[in-house]
Amino acid sequence: MNNRFHTPTFMVKAALGASLSILTIGGIFLWLSNSALIEGEAEEAKATSVQTTEAAKASPELIATLKTDLMTSEYVAVGAVPTEITPDIAIPTDIEKMVTVSSGDTLMSLLVTAGATRSEAHGAITALTNVYSPRKIRPGLDIALTFAPPTTVEEAENSRDVGPLRAMQFQPSVERIVKVSTTEGETTKYIAEEIQRPLTMRMARSTNEITSSLYLAATNVGVPNDIMIKLIRAYSFDVDFQREIQKGDSFEVVYEAYYDEDNNLARTGEMIYGNLNLSGDDLQLYRYTPSSGFTDYFNEKGQSAKKALMRTPVDGARLSSRFGKRKHPVLGYNKVHKGVDFAAPRGTPIYAAGDGVIVRANRFSSFGNYVKIRHHSGYETAYAHLKGFAKGMKKSKRVRQGQVIGYIGTTGRSTGPHLHYEVLYNGRQVNPLGVKLPAGEKLKSADLKKYKVEKQKIDSMMNELKKPAAIAGLQTN
Ligand SMILES: [Zn+2]
Repeated sequence: MNNRFHTPTFMVKAALGASLSILTIGGIFLWLSNSALIEGEAEEAKATSVQTTEAAKASPELIATLKTDLMTSEYVAVGAVPTEITPDIAIPTDIEKMVTVSSGDTLMSLLVTAGATRSEAHGAITALTNVYSPRKIRPGLDIALTFAPPTTVEEAENSRDVGPLRAMQFQPSVERIVKVSTTEGETTKYIAEEIQRPLTMRMARSTNEITSSLYLAATNVGVPNDIMIKLIRAYSFDVDFQREIQKGDSFEVVYEAYYDEDNNLARTGEMIYGNLNLSGDDLQLYRYTPSSGFTDYFNEKGQSAKKALMRTPVDGARLSSRFGKRKHPVLGYNKVHKGVDFAAPRGTPIYAAGDGVIVRANRFSSFGNYVKIRHHSGYETAYAHLKGFAKGMKKSKRVRQGQVIGYIGTTGRSTGPHLHYEVLYNGRQVNPLGVKLPAGEKLKSADLKKYKVEKQKIDSMMNELKKPAAIAGLQTN
């Protein structure tokens, strides 16, 4: 049935491509895990991703700050010379400092460490509260501080290298800037304001032929990383990216893109449509929210792209051993491998492949730390060699698809960090990559009708985007 996979050379290339993509987007894969599936972990993961994005975004500013810091220390060195005697020296200007919130910081401690007095910090925070709750400040946020130059005797006595705090500014989201500054003539009276950056949403469309991997093909036409992840996620139930993609295949994606006043891409929104053309067959997916409220991607017939079980319950992993007969890496003789192995760095989260109930979560001889989940319709999944279990994972616990159940490790009889994954049907191991998985939601009656209307809207929007003018404006190649 699967004739997409022709030569061994291609396999090597595809595998290389896949692992390259995994390396590059490895970090992001850790948080992409899910929209609403994991409660606690998702929060934590989100915080990390925000931190990364903020840090990346702040880099030019950080460089600016470093420069200012250099200038500042220079200033301090000559600053002992009273300005009145040497009017030639540049008049000291405000001092800018960039501070990054770390976990455990309070805004008060951050401001005081940067040089503000407690009363200045208190004044600024009180003013801030009018437009933004300091509780919402998360680790990773960069805050720009402006201080007056240190001129008075008082400051010298307090041994701080700056004058009074004049302003503090940060950007809690791409659309929003929060600024607190002193009122004219006052040093400790602050006012806060919120500046909205208007963003314009436009649909963007990208398409490209796949020569080595989907990741490279998409990168080459400027598909943003978070859209690429949404694309891969949407197809991960249906497509084995390591085996099924081959030269000559192509992809297409339409997504929401938000631009600032200068027409720079500020952020992306949702992926609205995706298409993978594999060996001439289109696999189209449309975004739709049925009456259940759970937004999903559906094919042209209204069948959800999701399956009741995931084939690969770990993100960014490399398939390292297939199902079937093989020489056992530790025991050395031929043995049937009753699952598939996925190699991934130690500590990589492992997901419940489907909704179900944990029937076992403990040490299990050569499997090491082991979890087994019972799903509906006679299916079970098992996960072995775990480094450890996620919090609360024990027998009888109900889990949802995509929920983190444990972490990649190498406990039990194992040669290196990997997940040994089994799918059991009526108590017997089946090949997780080959088995026909129970399907997810299929839209019916009213939902199906509404979906068809929505699908038509998306189709006509795409026809607009495909027109030459639109292509010139929106496509990168
Ligand atoms: Zn194995």
